[in-house]
Amino acid sequence: TWCPGCGYFSMAEGFTVALKRHSIAPEDVVVVSGIGCASRFPFFVNAYGFHTLHGRVLPVATGVKQANDALNVVAVGGDGDAFAIGGGHIPHAARRNVDITYLVFDNGVYGLTKGQTSPTSVLGFKTPTSPYENGDQPLNPLMMLLAYRASFVAQAYAGHSHHLTDMIAEAMAHRGFSYVHILSPCVTFDKTTRTYSNLDMLVRDLPKDHDASSLTAAMAEATKTDHPPLGVLYREQRPTLGDVMAETIRKAKAGS
Ligand code: SF4
Repeated sequence: TWCPGCGYFSMAEGFTVALKRHSIAPEDVVVVSGIGCASRFPFFVNAYGFHTLHGRVLPVATGVKQANDALNVVAVGGDGDAFAIGGGHIPHAARRNVDITYLVFDNGVYGLTKGQTSPTSVLGFKTPTSPYENGDQPLNPLMMLLAYRASFVAQAYAGHSHHLTDMIAEAMAHRGFSYVHILSPCVTFDKTTRTYSNLDMLVRDLPKDHDASSLTAAMAEATKTDHPPLGVLYREQRPTLGDVMAETIRKAKAGS
């Protein structure tokens, strides 16, 4: 179901290595996806999987986690699934600090439906839905996730597979809502903008002195979209949705 050369294969390999690194058994993992090429991901992973509805990955993943806190719940999707039809769910999963990992594979195009303009398509991109070039300003997902108060925000690139694996592993080790934005070329429907050869020249590591505890420092890096920064932009520790629910239950039982 994936084209040869698609960036998604790096994600499948990186995810498997991250699970091994953390000694997480397949029966303790649930991979939840929406709709789109990226949402085929559960088929490539030997664990529990839930291929849900378009844009509804986060409500389902939240339900799975709250039903069984012992599970490692990983939500996956592409830029269309995440930021078009599913865009209304992200702020609430982030601000509530649901203890899940969300991997968004951003190729800036709707691949499964044959190459239409997506919410992160670059200006000037020609597609069947923008034949005279895309004139819509692309979203900045990193800025959005930071503004939504995701407690872990990182960026990786499918062309740097070892670093990608590290980012997935760090995200899974984080307690709280961890978001990894993964730049991933669609080799079939984007031959001109976000290709491997273009991204190879543009991406850069975060500065060595980047302060990942500073929201303003993270936002400053997130604005530098001409040269996307790779690494952990931001992380903080705060109570998860599970912690808040446990406290609510305690109060209810105590009648306070
Ligand atoms: Fe990957 Fe694009 Fe093929 Fe979808 S259409 S599998 S995103 S290369």
